[in-house]
Amino acid sequence: MTRCFVPKCSETGVHHFPKDKKIGRKWLKAIRREKSIPTNSSRLCRKHFMESDYENISKYTGVKHQHKYLKKGVVPSIFSWNMKPASEKAKSREQRLQIRNLKKQLFSLPSTSQHCEDKVCFFENNIIKGI
Ligand SMILES: [Zn+2]
Repeated sequence: MTRCFVPKCSETGVHHFPKDKKIGRKWLKAIRREKSIPTNSSRLCRKHFMESDYENISKYTGVKHQHKYLKKGVVPSIFSWNMKPASEKAKSREQRLQIRNLKKQLFSLPSTSQHCEDKVCFFENNIIKGI
C-alpha cells in the first residue's frame, strides 16, 4: 500500500504519475511539491480528481470499466487547500452537465429544428438566472 503523494493526505494512492514529463510537472505543481521527484511508486489517491477526469466507458468495448481510468493529460485539481463548499461545486457541475447533454441532443437532431434552439436558449437563460 502506497500513501498518496499529496501533502497531508493519508489516503491510499492509486494513480501513478503520468509518463509524460510535462504532465507530471503539472501534477507536481498542482500538489505543491514542485521540488519533489516522484518515483515509480509515487501515487495519488482518487480524491484529487474530478468525476469528469475519469474515462468511464471503454472506447473499445463500450462497457463500463470496473476500475476507473484517468483520461490522458488530466491534472489533479481537488485539494484540501482549494476546496470550495461541496454544494456549490456540485451545483455548477450539474448545470454544466445539463447544458452539455442538451447540446448533445441538439447535435443529433436536424439543424433546422427551430424548436430545439428555442429550448436551449430557454434552458441557458434559466441557468444564468439561477446562479
Ligand atoms: Zn490523496
